[in-house]
Amino acid sequence: MQRQQNNFSIGQQPAIRIGQEFGTPLYVYDGQKIVNQFNTLRNAFQGMPLRLKYAAKALTNLSVLKLLRQAGSDLDVVSIEEARLGMMAGYQPEQIMFTPSGVAFEEITEAVELGIGINIDNLSMLEKLGRKYGSAVPCCIRINPHILAGGNEKIQVGHINSKFGISIDYLPEILRIVKSHRIVINGLHIHTGSDIKQAGAFMQGANVLFEAAMQFPDLAFISFGGGFKVAYREADHATDIDALAAELVPAFRNFCNKYGRDLEIWFEPGKFIVSEAGYLLVRVNVVKQTPAVTFVGVDSGFNHLIRPMFYDAYHEIINLTNPEGVLRKYNVVGYICETDTFAKDRQLPEVREGDILMFRNAGAYGFSMSSNYNSRPRPAEVLVYGGKAHLVRKRETLEDLVRNQVIVDF
Ligand SMILES: *Cc1c(COP(=O)(O)O)cnc(C)c1O
Repeated sequence: MQRQQNNFSIGQQPAIRIGQEFGTPLYVYDGQKIVNQFNTLRNAFQGMPLRLKYAAKALTNLSVLKLLRQAGSDLDVVSIEEARLGMMAGYQPEQIMFTPSGVAFEEITEAVELGIGINIDNLSMLEKLGRKYGSAVPCCIRINPHILAGGNEKIQVGHINSKFGISIDYLPEILRIVKSHRIVINGLHIHTGSDIKQAGAFMQGANVLFEAAMQFPDLAFISFGGGFKVAYREADHATDIDALAAELVPAFRNFCNKYGRDLEIWFEPGKFIVSEAGYLLVRVNVVKQTPAVTFVGVDSGFNHLIRPMFYDAYHEIINLTNPEGVLRKYNVVGYICETDTFAKDRQLPEVREGDILMFRNAGAYGFSMSSNYNSRPRPAEVLVYGGKAHLVRKRETLEDLVRNQVIVDF
């Protein structure tokens, strides 16, 4: 992690200046960092038939989607709306994989009609898909391998109680439905959760898929999902991508030999691509002393960045406007009328009213999880790329909050 706090810059643009130019609260993304992360993954698997399907839900801004498309990415989407955003950003339908959970069959047929890839995660929808399209529409199957992986229970999605995927124990049922409707299964998929640290978790999942794959003769790819970890604090370990590749590549080659054909290897990284590239800039409204703690109240809250409250996520905070201040301890809180803590007992250079603070690692599941709670407009978004800070989403206004409301004529 870059430690330097003085004159912090984002893509060679001083962060303070960006905050002053576009105002706060403000999301800022470093486009080059996004492209670099994408290339890190791509280079680690060089020589393999690799497809990277950026998990759009992490950050769906159209300009970010477009930037990743130009870098060579495909897309993984979890709603028909995300699929349509992807197409607005220039993705071809065949570059998009639809990996929904618990959606209506009508949404799946809509995706089929758009021509995007389908990933099925329950037996009921597999049966419906087979009955309607038979062999005409190939699909991928999301398998739940029953592996416990990932940092905390809100982001573990591959264990036995998880709602995601079809249990590997139901392989016979899957095969029965596939056979009776002659469904072409073009891929097998796992996504076992976010924040996976060790290559071991991937390998466990991979081995489950390799074994199951022998039963499906029409495969074109195996998808290992996302969940690569990035560092949030200095002591954190990011997923070692090269170590993962060193284990997975020979195992995958070995599997392809047994299978009799070379398949594509897919990943769906979200957080890994955009987390570290994103920053949330906020302004200090009030410094409030109590007998126990000193609160720093900022012009944002969990309406804009929910991760600290929702996942107990740690986000490093930088005081952009007083980097040399004396270190003191603060509780950094939002302006929402609700317990709204960004950071507890956090040591920061002295914070004064009017200072601009910056949260790091805010690119993934930041803006995309934001809301209008307390009737607050959502922040603007800026993408720094090619030596320029581009406004890529305007700040919301009061008009946006009332746009779809109807005042009844009593
Ligand atoms: C959310 C999601 C991802 C991305 O997860 P990250 O932890 O952000 O890498 C990948 N695949 C699927 C199916 C998802 O739902």
